[in-house]
Amino acid sequence: MKLNEFYKKNNLKEGQLIEFNFEENKVKGTIIPSNLQEEIIMIKLESGYNAGFLTTKINNIKSLGEVKSVGKAKIMEIKKNPNLPTISILHTGGTIASRVNYSVGGVMASFDLEDLITMFPELATIANIESVFVTNMMSEDIQTQHIKKISQVVSEQIKKGIRGIIIGHGTDMLGYSAAALAFELENCPIPIIIVGSQRSSDRGSSDAAMNLICASTFITKTNFKGVAVCMHNSTNDDYCAIVDATKVRKMHTSRRDAFKPINDTPIALIDYRTKEIKWIKEKIDFEKQKGEFKLRNNFEEKVGLIKMHPFITEKEINYYKKEKYKGLIIEGTGLGHTPIRENDSFIKALKELIESECIIGITSQCLHGRVNSTVYTNLRKVASIGAIYCEDMLPETALMKLSWLLGNYSKEETIKMLSKNLRGEITTFTRTDTYNEE
Ligand code: ASP
Repeated sequence: MKLNEFYKKNNLKEGQLIEFNFEENKVKGTIIPSNLQEEIIMIKLESGYNAGFLTTKINNIKSLGEVKSVGKAKIMEIKKNPNLPTISILHTGGTIASRVNYSVGGVMASFDLEDLITMFPELATIANIESVFVTNMMSEDIQTQHIKKISQVVSEQIKKGIRGIIIGHGTDMLGYSAAALAFELENCPIPIIIVGSQRSSDRGSSDAAMNLICASTFITKTNFKGVAVCMHNSTNDDYCAIVDATKVRKMHTSRRDAFKPINDTPIALIDYRTKEIKWIKEKIDFEKQKGEFKLRNNFEEKVGLIKMHPFITEKEINYYKKEKYKGLIIEGTGLGHTPIRENDSFIKALKELIESECIIGITSQCLHGRVNSTVYTNLRKVASIGAIYCEDMLPETALMKLSWLLGNYSKEETIKMLSKNLRGEITTFTRTDTYNEE
C-alpha cells in the first residue's frame, strides 16, 4: 500500500509517535517524512536510528498521542521576472534535496519552488525557476525505471522550450545516472546539469547552494548543450567545475570536491564570487551541434560489472553464462588484464561466456589511462576470444553504455559501437596532464 493511503487509512501523520508490530517485533517511534509514493514508512526509533518498514507487514498500529512539529521554514513569495530565462530543477532525491529536521531528527526533503527559493534566494536573481518532482530516493537505490523516468521528464521539459535543466541527484550513483542520461539524450539541445551535494542544505558547510548557483550561472551564461555535472572544484567555496557526464567519477566519500574528471579535464570552471566562466576544454561551438533531438531510453538489465582479483575463479564467470547475461564489463588490472590461469582455464570460461551470446567489455581498475590489448601475450589472448577493449572509458560508463546499446541496438551494432566514441566517453589521445594534479 502506498504510504499516503496507509497514512489515510490509519489516521497517521508525520511527527506522530506510534507503536506497531512488524513481523515478530514491537516497534515504537516517530514518523518522519519520506516518499509518499513508496510503500515504506520511515520511523525515528527510540534508539535514535531511522528505519524504514514495509507498510504491508505492519500490524496493530497504535497512536501514542504525541505529535512533534515537522513544519517548514517561513516561505518566500515568488514572482516571475520576464527578463530572465527559465530553468527547471528536477528533484530525484539524495542529500541535496534534504535538510535535517531537528525536531524529529530525520532528513526531510523539500520540493516546493517556494521552499527552494527560500533556501537559495540567489537562484531567483539568475533565472525563473520551475520545480519538478521526479522521485525522492537515495541514489544507491536507483534502478532502470528511475533512470528512464528521469530522462522521460527531461525530454518533456526540453520540449517545453526552457533554457536549461538542473537535476538534483544523490551523489553515490550520480556518475551512473549522468552517463546513462548522456547516452539517452541524442542531440541534446540544451544544457542538462546534474548537481549533488555532500552535505545537506541546512548545514553551514553545505555545498548545495554553491553547486546550484554555479550550475544556474553556467546554464544562463553559456550556449553549452549536452549533459554535465556541476560540483565543487576544490574544498574551498571558490570554483565549481563542469565535468563531462561520461568522464565523471565520485572519488571521495565525503569531500565536497569528490567529483573528478577521469582521463579528461573539466569542461569549465565557474567562479562563485564573480560568476565568470573559465573554459578549460577548448570552447566548443555548440551552435554547430544540430540534428534532431531524440530520446532513446531502453536498457538491457542483464549486464554486469566485475573486478578482477586474486581470488576470482571461473565459477564466477560461469554464473553470468548460467544466468544468460547479455553483457559483462570487466574491470581488468593494468592495461586490461584478466587472469589466464593454468591451461588457460580462466580464458576458456570467458570464451564460453562470449559464445553464450554475452558481450564482454574490458576496462581498467586503474581508471586513469587506456586499456591496450596488444602489449602482452596474455592481453592478446583475451582479445582473441572476442572481448572488446573499451579504450579510456570509465568502467561505470562502459556498464551504462553497454546496457543502453543492448537496449536500443542489435548485438552486431552494439559490438561495433561499444569501443567507438558517441558522447565524449572515449578520447582519441590518452591525456597525460589530467592525472594526479593535486
Ligand atoms: N547516499 C546518498 C545518495 O547518493 C548520498 C548523497 O545524496 O549525496 O543519495
